[in-house]
Amino acid sequence: MNELELLAHADVRGRRYTEANGQRRVFPLEEAIAALAAFDESLPALGLPAEATLALLDDVGSPATTASNGPRYFGFVIGAALPVAAAAERLMLAWDQCASTFDNSPVSATVERVAARWVLDALDLPRDSAVGFGTSATACTLTALAAARRELLARQGWDFDGQGLHGAPEIRVVVSALVHTTVKKALRVLGFGLNQIVHAPVDGQGRVDVTQLPALDARTILCLQAGEVNTGAFDPFAQILPHARAAGAWVHVDGAFGLWARASSLAHLTQGIELADSWTTDAHKWLNTPYDCAMAICRDARVLAEAMNSDAAYSSASLDAQKNLTLEFSRRPRGIPVWAALRSLGRQGIAELVERHCAQARRIGEGLAQAGFEVLNTVTLNQVLFRCASDAHTHAVRVAVQASGEAWFGGTLWQGRPAMRISVSSWRTRDEDVEALLALLEMAGRKSAVGR
Ligand SMILES: *Cc1c(COP(=O)(O)O)cnc(C)c1O
Repeated sequence: MNELELLAHADVRGRRYTEANGQRRVFPLEEAIAALAAFDESLPALGLPAEATLALLDDVGSPATTASNGPRYFGFVIGAALPVAAAAERLMLAWDQCASTFDNSPVSATVERVAARWVLDALDLPRDSAVGFGTSATACTLTALAAARRELLARQGWDFDGQGLHGAPEIRVVVSALVHTTVKKALRVLGFGLNQIVHAPVDGQGRVDVTQLPALDARTILCLQAGEVNTGAFDPFAQILPHARAAGAWVHVDGAFGLWARASSLAHLTQGIELADSWTTDAHKWLNTPYDCAMAICRDARVLAEAMNSDAAYSSASLDAQKNLTLEFSRRPRGIPVWAALRSLGRQGIAELVERHCAQARRIGEGLAQAGFEVLNTVTLNQVLFRCASDAHTHAVRVAVQASGEAWFGGTLWQGRPAMRISVSSWRTRDEDVEALLALLEMAGRKSAVGR
């Protein structure tokens, strides 16, 4: 098979997979998972045919996927892939561009610059901010926090690039008590000991409690969040940020999914967020681009560009070259699917996507309360947190839904007790899917109550 035939073959298989998107089991059957043993080959001495390789991947691999690109996957905040963004990725694969600088790929540099401008516009963040397109909110938070520390040290007269941390003034970190685990990971990787981090107490919805906010000063990095993973709650930015700014602290906002509320009629939830110094958000979650795609956004473009600079004698570039805004030196143009998604949705389409998911989440919250479940959060965003009267019942319901193959969502701990969390974040989820989920939950609730 030549290259073009092979690509056509992959397209046929991809098409078949996509056609079955709505009918597929949301979590694979045991048999499909057991069949993955077929991949357990030793490295062949001689190369095997491309066609057979693709066939193995599809025939054995496709049945063992989770249908997270389908309408009834409510786990984590995964998001599906918008057709236009997925199609743009297909074309990008044909290009195989290294999108580090204009010299490497004029088209990538140009389109990513437009994507950056549109993201700032859609999210209504300071228009001079730098936008680095990275793999994940984890990696983008790491870059933003590295830039934050370097800058706070520079303001203390410390040359971080030259001197490193040995003997440097101490930088404190204050985070929400419910900070996302990946922010802690980024801090840990950067050398902030977890025992040194100060946790700001939160209220019953998971918002930082302003009345108990730890002291902030010019040597403090404060990490807030837009969209707590369980409740979808937003920290009270408008109350905290003016104070944090006056104290000279650096404020970073983890808005992995929640920042997109700012592009909708729910923008008021994010009021004051524009005063932060840096923000992280994902495109692969609520914007529904394919994995993996995220953004580090930094108010002072120079600060991010200097911290992430990777110019060399053979490769120098402007401050807004992507290789100077992200961890990667070589990377594919992740901003292109963002551009494609934003272009096809438009302002109105983004708002509608977000608002529809929030309305569907509210409907789920109401339906669950009617069915006798305890809904633990005030559903304002796309997250619904709930449980049954007993922990055993909560467990039984979650397992029953997951095993049904009809829908999938995960478990969590909320205030020390097991709970379930539903996230609505796929463009494919229709109101019928929401009703089907409610019917499934009602049945699972009744059945496992009887069996107790
Ligand atoms: C998913 C998530 C992250 C991590 O994002 P990745 O892109 O998976 O690294 C961070 N914070 C919040 C609130 C999230 O929901």
